[in-house]
Amino acid sequence: MELQEKLLDKKRELQRSIDRKKDSLMITVRESTDDLSMYDQHPADLASELYEREKDAGLLEMMELELQNINDALNRYQNGEYGICSICGEAIEPERLERLIYTTQCIQCARKAKDNFTRPAEEDISFSGAMSDRGETLEIAGYDFYDSDN
Ligand SMILES: [Zn+2]
Repeated sequence: MELQEKLLDKKRELQRSIDRKKDSLMITVRESTDDLSMYDQHPADLASELYEREKDAGLLEMMELELQNINDALNRYQNGEYGICSICGEAIEPERLERLIYTTQCIQCARKAKDNFTRPAEEDISFSGAMSDRGETLEIAGYDFYDSDN
């Protein structure tokens, strides 16, 4: 599949999840406020319900951020900048783009950025599959923080 198509596809899919999530959040709020029995609930129940909702809200936030990343990637595509590392200007590895469709950094630069955060050199293991995508991306704040399920 063309990468641009893939991005658009991803965007639609994400948009749908966001809409669904928004709907379900709204329903939860309405149900709880209409339901007077809420006051009879055990505080722990209420707390866990609040926790669930907060988790959902956090998830929604993450999805919206991802959508923003995808829109950015589409913009870069339009400008012919897609797939070019924003740091060193080299082409980003196709396998990496395959996994992190909206990434703006090549493996080398992402790895360097990561090393600057916390990583001791001996932990500099390969990015190929062995490591969870989530683990990798969460550490690169702002950009690749959330990978999708491919
Ligand atoms: Zn680079």
